[in-house]
Amino acid sequence: MNGNTFTKNDYFRKRAQSVGLSLIVMGASFFLYYLGLFGNVQGPLTPGNIGASLAAMGVTKVHMLMFFLSFFIMALTWNHIFNLVSFMIASRLTCMRKNQEGIVCGASTKRIKINYGNKKNIDKNKSVRFKCVNGHNCFDARFNPVKKGVVSHTVWVAALLFCVIIMYG
Ligand SMILES: [Zn+2]
Repeated sequence: MNGNTFTKNDYFRKRAQSVGLSLIVMGASFFLYYLGLFGNVQGPLTPGNIGASLAAMGVTKVHMLMFFLSFFIMALTWNHIFNLVSFMIASRLTCMRKNQEGIVCGASTKRIKINYGNKKNIDKNKSVRFKCVNGHNCFDARFNPVKKGVVSHTVWVAALLFCVIIMYG
């Protein structure tokens, strides 16, 4: 059926994205390795040298470094934190109900609590239900995490670069 071409394109798009991401992470790792962060190579980021470098730097420089370091950590982790919060408050959920052709509904869905009274043998996993905007009631829903795009990856790489530039400067 014509659905096949979409799945294929989707597949290659995802493959390309993950290859790109791997390259970025690999590049960053090599970069950090040659700067000595892992201790096998002598460089400005070798753990023993960091303290000495910080002492040699002015206070402003340390502040700038802290700023870009926090920025780097934020840029790297924001979507994971956002996803964790979304998951906990049951946001970003979509309906998993399939129609006769096997197409998933995918409408946004909400968690609703059903009161089963005082019955003792209630399966706790089934005491939470989801209701989508199309009116489907389901015991399960799909969680859609936010993934970083190219811009987001560029931002954390840039923040990391600034850190290194400050330490070198
Ligand atoms: Zn639905």
